[in-house]
Amino acid sequence: MPSSSPESIIDVALVGAGIHSATLGMLLRELDPRLSIRAFERLEDVALESSDAMNNAGTGHAANCELNYTPGKADGSVDPSKAFSINEQFETSLQFWTHLVSEGRLPSPASFMAPCPHMSFVRGGEDLAFLKARHGLLAAHHFFSGMEYSEDAGRIAGWAPLIMAGREGSERVAATWIGRGSDVDFGSLTRAFFTTLKDSGNFSLETGMEVRDLSRGSDGSWRLHTHRRASGERQELRARFVFLGAGGGALPLLLASRIPEAAGYGGFPVSGQWLVCSEPAIVARHEAKVYGKAALGAPPMSVPHLDTRVIGGKKSLLFGPYAGFSTRFLKEGSYWDLPGSIRPNNMFVMASAGLRNLGLTGYLIGQVLQSPADRLKALREYMPGARAEDWTLATAGQRVQIIKKDAERGGGKLEFGTEVVSSGDGSIAALLGASPGASTAVPAMIKLIEKCFGLRAKSPGWQARLHAIIPSYGQSLARDRELHTRVRSRSNEVLGLRD
Ligand SMILES: Cc1cc2nc3c(=O)[nH]c(=O)nc-3n(C[C@H](O)[C@H](O)[C@H](O)COP(=O)(O)OP(=O)(O)OC[C@H]3O[C@@H](n4cnc5c(N)ncnc54)[C@H](O)[C@@H]3O)c2cc1C
Repeated sequence: MPSSSPESIIDVALVGAGIHSATLGMLLRELDPRLSIRAFERLEDVALESSDAMNNAGTGHAANCELNYTPGKADGSVDPSKAFSINEQFETSLQFWTHLVSEGRLPSPASFMAPCPHMSFVRGGEDLAFLKARHGLLAAHHFFSGMEYSEDAGRIAGWAPLIMAGREGSERVAATWIGRGSDVDFGSLTRAFFTTLKDSGNFSLETGMEVRDLSRGSDGSWRLHTHRRASGERQELRARFVFLGAGGGALPLLLASRIPEAAGYGGFPVSGQWLVCSEPAIVARHEAKVYGKAALGAPPMSVPHLDTRVIGGKKSLLFGPYAGFSTRFLKEGSYWDLPGSIRPNNMFVMASAGLRNLGLTGYLIGQVLQSPADRLKALREYMPGARAEDWTLATAGQRVQIIKKDAERGGGKLEFGTEVVSSGDGSIAALLGASPGASTAVPAMIKLIEKCFGLRAKSPGWQARLHAIIPSYGQSLARDRELHTRVRSRSNEVLGLRD
């Protein structure tokens, strides 16, 4: 029997203490300081899963360098629409962080982000033509006006010496470079958010407490069935609104909620590994995030990249990710996560998506079987002079890709984006998927607020606050160049970014 009965009711329950719950908590706190908010985290501290610095790549995804956001079309042209959307979404995150730093509710930006140029790097004729076409489209727009393109080995070596040192002179290469990039420590940012929330009052955080199940009360509120992992103590709590910000743990809880909107959703976990170099002489020679093109058959988020990282003021280099397959939905999860998520209402969709993506499964198995020599070979494509002894292998976070019904073809499909799934009455919402991920947490959580807090979100009070914290709220930075310049100058000034 549960050790306590659910007598009091809280306004908002945040399940999971990663960047998304933290961001939602902060936004709601800005909109209405009276809301009672409680967060539940199954691990002993916040931000230990995907949001932890070394569990993700820390790229402030602005579509400066990620080639999968500008797919090539069959006729050889490039589709830039996703790049514009992601760039604008990242500017929204930057505006919110700028607001919080200016108001003293976030510490110095150096504690969670560092300016870092973003580069794309390709080899071979076809990819050169793609990169040139991409550059032509992007650099013509004010979002990417500082982007440079070069096929000159000396120029590229000036931007990133390690990727050119030891490379055959005859190899055709090209790169783009943009100064206004960033490396973000999302773990540090999440911890700072929770510190501010704890200081704000009307907020509590329970760590070591797992939400095991959910049920709906007759009054429409949600009952959270919790389990303290250390003692086994169980509790029931009532909440008017529940956010399932549990990362890979969100899908099982969404299915447990039995809301009709959840039917047919499944998940496909992709694990990852990095090679990490902390050798000061090597680290000092690289200052960029250099993204290449995904290998044939590889999922878009496993594009290899050689990254400068700044974590706790210490610089290192990271290369990867080497994708892999595990049935766990969380790094600290269980091998039963995937089989346990199969339900009568998603079985067909999952089987169909699996059959349609056999190539991906084969690719992931191939990645799992890689030897250290294979991994070094992949690294040397980006850094020909790399030596095995300077690099160590580290395990990255788990990403659970969304499987859902394919409305066009029937059956199921695998998606690589993020999606908020919510109940029709807006009383519960879950964030599924992992890309672009942490960088776009602010616009994702604003969208969730608009969807789930409908009338209140439209009220003059909340609208005024939203405009105060996100100056471009409700407007288009893509269309309004003057607004873009204003917003960006302010973010640069407060967050220390370079134009
Ligand atoms: C390899 C890799 C590279 C990435 N690179 C980038 C990048 O460069 N840039 C970027 O912006 N994004 C990147 N991402 C994505 C980004 O890391 C994630 O989108 C983001 O961190 C997810 O945050 P979250 O709050 O949703 O989940 P998480 O950070 O995973 O937090 C979820 C929390 O919920 C807890 N939890 C789970 N189940 C329960 C339960 N039942 N009860 C209570 N608590 C529970 C977990 O313990 C965890 O602490 C990357 C991800 C990976 C894996």
